Order: sequence, then structure tokens, then C-alpha cells
Amino acid sequence: MNTVLGYVPSLEHSQPGHPESPQRMLAIMDLLESTNILSDISQVDINTTQIEQITRVHSEALIRRIRQTCERGGGHLDADTYTTADSFKLALDASGTTTILLDLVMESEARNGMALVRPPGHHAERDRVGGFCLFNNIAVAARQAQEVHGAERVLIVDIDVHHGNGTQDIFYDDPTVLYVSIHQFGYFFYPGTGAINEIGTGPGHGYTVNIPFPPGAGDQWYLAAFNDLIRPRVKVFSPDVVLVSAGFDAHWIDPLASAALTLGGYSNLTAKLIEMADDFCSGKILFVLEGGYHPIALSHGVLNTLYRLKGYDDLSDPLGLSSRPEQDMTNVLSTLRDLHLLN
Ligand SMILES: [Zn+2]
Repeated sequence: MNTVLGYVPSLEHSQPGHPESPQRMLAIMDLLESTNILSDISQVDINTTQIEQITRVHSEALIRRIRQTCERGGGHLDADTYTTADSFKLALDASGTTTILLDLVMESEARNGMALVRPPGHHAERDRVGGFCLFNNIAVAARQAQEVHGAERVLIVDIDVHHGNGTQDIFYDDPTVLYVSIHQFGYFFYPGTGAINEIGTGPGHGYTVNIPFPPGAGDQWYLAAFNDLIRPRVKVFSPDVVLVSAGFDAHWIDPLASAALTLGGYSNLTAKLIEMADDFCSGKILFVLEGGYHPIALSHGVLNTLYRLKGYDDLSDPLGLSSRPEQDMTNVLSTLRDLHLLN
């Protein structure tokens, strides 16, 4: 079985000067094509989602609003989130291609996969777009795993530096989807949700795990969060598949955030996630691109993820270490352990 890749650059979803641009995807593909990695990976065709797949996670009103805005030639849906005349179709392509990769992983026709798609998804709530996101690609894939492939429990790990308020919103009362997010958290940092005490509601109580780090969290603390909190919590949950919201904006050089991961730290975390999927769900894991706004951190981060998915130890890191010292996150992690592991 091979690793599968989907590539949806959405060139016509573009606004001059906006950080979430097609250039992100072109930087990734330029780098991948300069290596041998693509000869070793199966690329799938672009696939458009059926509206019924989108309505599993979004309201019909939201779908209509995006479609009608695009039919009028596009425009802003909120301060950060733009559309063009083509964005509705391209957002369906991003979700649909993610879903096809999920199908291949669930049917064991692929070993694992990565969806390089945009617009991104994790800020899109059931009834509200936001943060450059139109449809929540990873949420659509999670419901596809359940409704078509019979998965009972889906794990979503969100390593984008921003909290995935959209994914949290969609699954907040649902005990069949465990949502775990490590993100930067603090005054005036987008989107402002993802506090330590947001842990789910009703039957979903305890099935949202937010790890809100202050600025400056780097490799050491991401790894500690994985080993001391995420892995033991996931072991109890026992997922049927692991989906990863892979944002590369937690790299220290990213212009939109102040976390401090290195490319080596990302690669080690990726290896841990893959090993966890091997241990708990026969290696079924799909990485779905979210943010990442520095072209070198983004493109090499994706390359290193593909290396890990193929089982290689190679690391491509032209950026090296941050000059900032790591902040101490002991208190955050001990509070989280009390909250999520003691019952
Ligand atoms: Zn982000």
C-alpha cells in the first residue's frame, strides 16, 4: 500500500496581498518537484464533494450564502475571509479531494495520506465561515469515515497554531469525535477560543481537549503535550482513524503567530502521530493542510510530513532553531492532566 496525496491549489481563489494565497501551494509543489518524493507517492485526481456530504457538518443556510456570494462574483464573508466567483466550486473540490483520500485510507487501498488543499477548513463552524476557511474539510472527512465506512470513533488532532474553533463547534456535543488542539492562546490572538476549560458539552463532555499555550511554546513542550496528555487520552478513546489538521504556522518563523516549533520538532511530532495511529488503528491516518504562511517553513514542513508518511527519517530544515528561549509550560500541562486524565 502506498501513501496518497491530493493537490488542490485553487489558483482562482485569490486576493492580492492576502496571506492565504495560491503561492502557498505553488511553493509546496515547487519543493516537492525538486525532490524524488512524488515518484514514490500516488496522487489522486481532484474530486468535487457532494452537497449531501457538506450538509453533514454545515447548515444549508451557510452553503447557500457562500454559493450566492460567489454567483454574484465573490466578496468578503467576514473581515478575513474572501471569496471569488470560483471559490464555491474550489471549496467543494478541497473537501471532496480530502474525502476521496479518506475513502482510500478507510478501505485500506492506501497506507496513509495527505490532502494539500485550500481554502483551509478548521475555522469554519456549522453555521459560520471564518479565518480564511469556507467548508471544514477535516470535519467533512470525519463524518464520511463514520457514515460511509462505519467508523465509530474518529480522532482529530489539530496542530495548526490557531485554535480550530470550527471543528470544535461542529463536534462539541459529540462523544464519537475526539477533538484535540494544541494552539497559541492569549489576548488578541485569533480566534480567541480554545481555553483550557472548553472540554465539550452534554454527551460530548470530555471529548474536546484544548491545549492553549502562551506565545513561545516550542519542540520540547509540544512533545511533552503529546507524551503526557494526548497519547494517554487517545489510548482510552481508541480511535478507528486519526485525522490531523496540519497547519505549519506554529513554526517560529511564521509571520502570523509566535509559537516556536522547528521543522525538526514538526517532523518528530508527525512521527509520534503516525506511530500512535499504528498502535491504535492499524496506521489509518490522514493529514489535511490548514495554515502555514512562511513559504520555506510551509513547504519543508509538508515535505518532511511526506517523508514520515513514507517511513523515512529524512529531515529537510534550512531554517534551524529559533533564537528565542522556550517558555515553561509545566503549569498548563499539569492542569490539563488533572482535567482530562484523572477520571
Ligand atoms: Zn493557522
